[in-house]
Amino acid sequence: MAMFVGVCGTMSLCAAVSLDLGHARAMASGLRHLNFRCTACANCCKELRVPLTSADLGRLVAKTGRPASELVDWLETDSVDLTGEPGSLVVLEQASKPALMTLAHRGNACLFLGLDARCAVYDARPGSCRLYPFDLTFGPRGGVRRLRLLGGTRCDYARDGHNDPHALREADQQRWSEHRAYLAQVQTWNRSQRHRLRFGHRALGSREFLHFLSVASEATSGNGS
Ligand code: SF4
Ligand code: SF4
Repeated sequence: MAMFVGVCGTMSLCAAVSLDLGHARAMASGLRHLNFRCTACANCCKELRVPLTSADLGRLVAKTGRPASELVDWLETDSVDLTGEPGSLVVLEQASKPALMTLAHRGNACLFLGLDARCAVYDARPGSCRLYPFDLTFGPRGGVRRLRLLGGTRCDYARDGHNDPHALREADQQRWSEHRAYLAQVQTWNRSQRHRLRFGHRALGSREFLHFLSVASEATSGNGS
């Protein structure tokens, strides 16, 4: 699972990164890249889109006090490169095709990117942001077996960093665990919506989906619902 997705069409970046790591383009690989250091250029926060899980969204709602619906953009299938990862697509009434729940952009950047190019929700940022641009595979004893730095944007990183493999592993495990839980929720939701459609009812909208995820109790305004 890639951390960010490239987008096509009217979006700011043509598809470059897939949710399937087998297809994702790496800008570098090798364990020596544990010396990666982010220089806070903020290009990834401007040019890539962040798929959200319910856990990501719950943390952001708790951190900001804002309705979940204000934090989300829905990207339809055609505008996202989702090769090999259809399980995150949500069946919604207002979308002509299943859509991906992503962190909202305002202007040409993530809505949490400050004017100082810093993340305004750093300690509550999504799991994908925590790991970008690392794509890691771990061995049976927990050591890093393979490391790639994902591309998709111009990442102006430096090579004098010191990344702790154990901290990366913990972050990676948490992200995968939350991703799996979210996929199960999406599967349950989509099954119920297809059941509704089969019996001539409309599918429910994004507001109902956020309530289903139990992250939208404060929701007062919608985003396309
Ligand atoms: S949540 Fe923070 S780190 Fe993630 S894309 Fe937005 S500004 Fe960047
Ligand atoms: S593009 Fe690379 S160097 Fe720039 S903020 Fe993102 S991770 Fe850091």
